[in-house]
This record gives sequence, structure tokens and C-alpha cells, in this order.
Amino acid sequence: MKIPFLNLHPTHSKLKQEILAAFEEVYDSNWFIAGSKLAQFESEYARFNNVTNCIGVSNGLDALFLALKALNVGPGDEVIVPSNTYIATALAVTHTGATPVFVEPVVSSYNIDPDLIASAISIKTKAIIPVHLYGQACQMDAICSITEKHGLHIVEDNAQAHGARFAGKATGSWGAINATSFYPGKNLGALGDGGALTTNSEALAASLSMLRNYGSKEKYVHEIDGYNMRLDECQAAFLSVKLKYLTDWTQQRQMIAAMYDEGLSGTGDLILPQVHPGATHVYHLYVIRTNHRSNLSVYLAERGIGTLIHYPQPPHLQKAYREMGYHKGDFPIAELIADTCLSLPLWPGMAMDDIAFIINTIKRFFDE
Ligand SMILES: *Cc1c(COP(=O)(O)O)cnc(C)c1O
Repeated sequence: MKIPFLNLHPTHSKLKQEILAAFEEVYDSNWFIAGSKLAQFESEYARFNNVTNCIGVSNGLDALFLALKALNVGPGDEVIVPSNTYIATALAVTHTGATPVFVEPVVSSYNIDPDLIASAISIKTKAIIPVHLYGQACQMDAICSITEKHGLHIVEDNAQAHGARFAGKATGSWGAINATSFYPGKNLGALGDGGALTTNSEALAASLSMLRNYGSKEKYVHEIDGYNMRLDECQAAFLSVKLKYLTDWTQQRQMIAAMYDEGLSGTGDLILPQVHPGATHVYHLYVIRTNHRSNLSVYLAERGIGTLIHYPQPPHLQKAYREMGYHKGDFPIAELIADTCLSLPLWPGMAMDDIAFIINTIKRFFDE
């Protein structure tokens, strides 16, 4: 048995002809930036998220950064982010010159703890970035009631949760602006880098489309100090092909997660993912926790099973942020998760035999 952590082959091999046809169309059009493929994908992704506007951009980090720029976040401002996120969430904040203020997650859902947000708000707080980590929607009702009370913007980081919902409403449609990534391994992945912003505000959509394109609406007229952070025609065309399959892929992810849930429940000291009331989970990652992580991951690797850790070190302990002066112990829940979490293989089209083998191998580890 050889089971990698992630295998894109089952989905990509089925789409090969459609993807090649999409590439050929772009190639033959000789139009590679800001054309009809981008416009088409943007309207499809806006519809998927149930918002009025989508702005395709270069990647998820740029999407988060542009969202904050469009909301005028900058030096002297504070932005609340979870203490247990991928570094991009925090980097987007520091790239604007603002300061990330870390708030611990609820240990059972891995998502930011709404009860801890209020005490992190200061006079400088401008926005909050809830991250729908691993694919589970945050408690958006509780987060919205805090932000409304304090007049803060929400920018969702929806990089891991395309298609998730809270209280029936899509992630990526709650905030003033929402950012997502189409990194190849994400639930909706491009064949290279890509990202998008979603918003229901025409005014913010207009600033975002200028910001991503040299501050320009009209060629050679630059109204604001902008960036080159565009999504190209090839990636947009590929994403349009893949978006049609996303709902099916999400159902497959949820079915595989249900098999893990059933097969692994009551095994050793394993803590399995828990879906909180009101939320749906699209299982970008199936993350378990155990105090025996390092032995378990070695045991699985020796039997051909790939696993990864999301993430081994929280942002506050990264060398990149040493000047913020944080220490081990400052965010104990994020650190506990980092020390004990393990992501199991999961992808649409995964063979049932593989899932059964993984479950049995994990059980055998705890029996020995
Ligand atoms: C992947 C990811 C990003 C960054 O996306 P890129 O396209 O790689 O820049 C941001 N936030 C989260 C939570 C992610 O998982």
C-alpha cells in the first residue's frame, strides 16, 4: 500500500479533456489577462457564494491583503485573527502595516472563540478575520453580533471552506469582503496560484478591481495606488471547469469524513473533528488529535500512509514574527493544537480500500 497525503489524480484525470479544451480556447483567443474567461468565472463564483460580486485575484494572501486595503486598514490599526491559522492570515495584516491581534480558538472546533473576541477589541481595532479552518464554518452569528456592536469589518478567510455554510448561509458571503484561495490543493484548486474576493458591496467591488489592476479602471488611467494581483485567463477558465464539480467533490469529502468518524470513534486517545451547531464542514482537511502524534505518524509512514500537520507552529511562534515578542505559552490552545494535530489523507475519488486500510492501521497502532 502506498497512500499519499493528497492525490489530485482521480479528479484531474477525469477532467483532462475539458481542461485541455478550456486551455485551447484561451490559447486560440490570444487574450491572457482580464478577458471573458475571468468575467465568466467571477460571475459563476459570485453565484456559487450567493453574493453580487466576485473579483478574481492572484492568490489567497493577495486576496486577504487587498480586502484589508479596500477597507483602509493600515499602520496603527489592529486586526483580530485566530491564533491557530496558516501564516497567510497574519501576513496579510502585517503587509498593510497593521498589527494582528491573536485570539484563541475553541479547542473542539479549531475556529476562533467568539467569547474571547470582545476582550481583544481596542480603540485601534478595525477588522476581524474569521478563518473557517479545515473547512468548518465559524460561529458567524456570534461573530456578527460582536462586530455590529463595535462597528468592525469582517473579512472572512474562506481559503479552506468553499461551499461551507453557517445557518444555511454560505461562508464567503458574511463579511464586508471575503477572501479565498485557489491554491491547487484547496477544495476548489487552480492549476497554479489563484484567489478571489467576494462582496455584496458595489463600491468595495469597484475599489478591489482597481486595486488588483494597477489602480486602474481604464487603461493608462491610474486613480489609486494599486497592485498587479490579477487572476489570469487560463486559471479562470480552469476554475470554471472545476467549479461545476465542486458540490459533488464536497459530498465525497463529507462521505469520507463520515467513514473516518465511524471507523475511528473510540480509538485510543483520538479526538475526532466535531461539527458545531449551525455549521457545515467541507473537510478541506480531516484533522485528528492525539498525544501520540509523532509515533502514530511514523507508524503510518512505515506502512505507506502519508500524513501532514496543519500547522506545526502557530504564527506567534514563527521566526518571521519574533519582533512581536511572543513566547511559548502565550496562546496555549493554539500551541496544544499545533503539538497534537494530525491530518489524514482525504481527497475526492479516494478508494474505499485506502480509507479502510488507514482506519485499520490506526486502530492497530493503538492496539499494539
Ligand atoms: C491557503 C491559505 C491561504 C493562502 O492562500 P494562497 O493562495 O496560498 O496565498 C490563506 N489562508 C488560509 C487559511 C489558507 O489555507
